[in-house]
Amino acid sequence: MSVARASRPHEAAVGFPMPQQARRPRYGSRMTFDVITIFPDFFRSMLEYGLLKRAVACGQAGIRFHDLRDFTEDRHRTVDDRPFGGGPGMVFKPDPVFKAVAALDAGMPGQRLPVILLSPQGRLFTQAVAEELRHQDRLVLICGRYEGVDERIAEHLATDEISIGDYVLSGGELPAALIMESVVRLLPGVLGNEESASQDSFTTRQAGARESRHGLLDCPHYTRPAEFQGWRVPEVLISGNHEEIRRWRRQRALEKTWRRRPDLLAGFPLSEEDRQWLDILQREACEPVLQNDE
Ligand code: SAH
Repeated sequence: MSVARASRPHEAAVGFPMPQQARRPRYGSRMTFDVITIFPDFFRSMLEYGLLKRAVACGQAGIRFHDLRDFTEDRHRTVDDRPFGGGPGMVFKPDPVFKAVAALDAGMPGQRLPVILLSPQGRLFTQAVAEELRHQDRLVLICGRYEGVDERIAEHLATDEISIGDYVLSGGELPAALIMESVVRLLPGVLGNEESASQDSFTTRQAGARESRHGLLDCPHYTRPAEFQGWRVPEVLISGNHEEIRRWRRQRALEKTWRRRPDLLAGFPLSEEDRQWLDILQREACEPVLQNDE
């Protein structure tokens, strides 16, 4: 598949051929991501499958890739240099990154773009952060590499720094992909069933659900057959009694959260019914069982 490049140099976006429907006005999508990376091809496969492909095809999301090397001026298209003070590895030079963001800003006079630097030193990405980000029209994602980026990018260019977890990867591409996927699935109309996102684990918003499920782990799900290798699905789920099913799901979600992630229950708005159920659990069991031995 060939890589399409925009013709104007300040829009040196690398896009992948999209279905005709996707070729809408550049900012006609609900949300546009501009990813600055030295590996635009890294993202190719994720746009060919599933949710992101669908979101782009139906115009809910626009995703553009900008090759950082297009914003260099030397013959070798150099994006990195040795760190001042010595030490191993290379660091992204500030100039190409500032230029790449300035080129994107050029299309939006008077407005400051939200610019996210992917960094293990940033604030932790959670479902709540995904829900916060989905309200933006545009997001610029800067993917670092090597030892990271010149600190002046963090201090004077980025409006936000986000980490996807307390571990170090070799580049910001996977974190950028992860953030785009989790934000795009929250955009209205992207998931087939509006309710399914509102019931996912950690979900902090209510989307037409009868009750809030702020930040709980999801309840267990089962599908056919009703009996598999001798294990039957819980009878209540095939009872057809919707109120019983609702209560069972709520109780299982509370129980799973209490056993595996009791931290999520702190500050969680519990109903009277929730409280009663947690009291029963606490009386019956001894200690919550954490997923990771601590
Ligand atoms: N020396 C840096 C790590 C650089 S890793 C440090 O110790 O803080 C190279 C690049 O990978 C980073 O610039 C960042 O863009 C990306 N990266 C690595 N781990 C990440 C994480 N947990 N979250 C977000 N981005 C990450």
